[in-house]
Amino acid sequence: MSVSPVRVRFAPSPTGYLHFGGARTALFNWLIARKTAGGKFILRIEDTDRSRHVEDSLPKILSDLRWLGLIWDEGPEAGEDLGPYYQSERLDLYKKYAQQLLDAGRAYYALETPEELAAMREQARKEKGEYRYRRPIPLPTAEQAQQAREAGKAVVVRFMMPNEAVTTTDDILGPVTLAAEELEDFIIQKGDGWPTYHLACVVDDALMGITHVLRGQEHLMNTAKHIALQRALGFETPRYAHLPIIFNMNGSKMSKRDKEKAIKKGETPPEIDVHDFRVAGYLPEALLNFISLLGWSTGDDTEQLTLEETVARFEVGGIGKSNAKFDRDKLLAFNTGWASRVSPERLLEAFKDFLVLNDLPMRSLDDATLGHVLRLCTGFRTFRDVQAKAGALFVPDDAIEYNAKAVKKVLRKKEGQGFAMLEAVLPRLEALTDWTTEQLERCITGLCDEQGRKLGDVAQPIRVAVSGSTVSPAIYDTLVLLGRAGTLNRIRHAITLKEQE
Ligand code: GLU
Repeated sequence: MSVSPVRVRFAPSPTGYLHFGGARTALFNWLIARKTAGGKFILRIEDTDRSRHVEDSLPKILSDLRWLGLIWDEGPEAGEDLGPYYQSERLDLYKKYAQQLLDAGRAYYALETPEELAAMREQARKEKGEYRYRRPIPLPTAEQAQQAREAGKAVVVRFMMPNEAVTTTDDILGPVTLAAEELEDFIIQKGDGWPTYHLACVVDDALMGITHVLRGQEHLMNTAKHIALQRALGFETPRYAHLPIIFNMNGSKMSKRDKEKAIKKGETPPEIDVHDFRVAGYLPEALLNFISLLGWSTGDDTEQLTLEETVARFEVGGIGKSNAKFDRDKLLAFNTGWASRVSPERLLEAFKDFLVLNDLPMRSLDDATLGHVLRLCTGFRTFRDVQAKAGALFVPDDAIEYNAKAVKKVLRKKEGQGFAMLEAVLPRLEALTDWTTEQLERCITGLCDEQGRKLGDVAQPIRVAVSGSTVSPAIYDTLVLLGRAGTLNRIRHAITLKEQE
């Protein structure tokens, strides 16, 4: 048994926000590192595909990883023992290894232009065959490559894929045989001299001493290429484990494109990136707990686990082979549960992050008021519910938006019964000497008794008048939060709606 410390990596490409599937890969790698004495979690930035590079995406990925609490031991803005950890800063290394393969006759220059390759593909399509690049005979020489370059052509380097299957033992899938002989000679160095993902990944996994590669199943065929490259370069092969694919409840594969599809259909886009869940008001605790169960299970029925408990119980052997289902209702239920379990300080911290990200007026409230608001909204699904319930109480009085349905149903119906209630309660509220729950209760229940009304007949019109909608915290809490001036202003204003159609 090898006793060298575990070194795992998460290797995002800065092409956008951190995707949900990426977060699971990061979490599982992080767990492997945390479980083992001296284990290291490395963050490597795979930024060699300049065409897919998205400006500003890296700080967002780092911020979302930190929000989740998946802190890396080596990588950007951390220890730099075997760095640099940006592939764009390691180009000379990849050139060196590409040259080594060329010198050893394990790679060759290829001169086809993109147009020629497209034509070959088109030909294969017409013949209804599968396109596979065919190794030219004889192979282009270094001189020919040089001449082509001088003539302004892009010259790539291709790896000579050995004509043999690769058999490996995957830590999740078990023994797998990858039909490497069916794979074409793939490009390892592009026309501009930059490496492709395959070469950069293999070189870095080796030089960074990566012992375990755990990534999504969509990379399985890449693993055949990577093992072949490792053998040609004399590198050790790390242990591999491929995670099950994540599916939506309707059986479709969960993908970034789900958002675009929904927008096209005029529907609310589903949350896909970690950032989406953060903006929607989920707690990182809930999200992590939920992600950890996408493919992995404790072996018993335990589902609620803190991160520490997950570290203690996590085993790669507990990851299943079959597809994982992304159950959004379950995630919402997890969030409600976690919101009631985390400490008030933690909840407040996460709530503030939500308010700042969404730039909501409640962000300027002090901690005591925010904590009070959270208590009044206990049982919420996400922070968005808290905003929907209490947000209107913290906008300027003249900025509240009256929901047309609420005005019609609660104030206007039965010949303006709600308006009549507002007119009746206003002078009584104006006359209150103290603005406390007790006084407000006495005032409102007093009116109910006198007029033979139920509490809702008076409370609901007041709620609509002060919040614009039919939801807010309990009525007395709402009015205390709003204060005397705000309450009276808003009721007076709501009464003027009576004349408007
Ligand atoms: N940059 C690759 C990706 O984002 C990493 C794949 C790997 O883990 O090797 O998919």
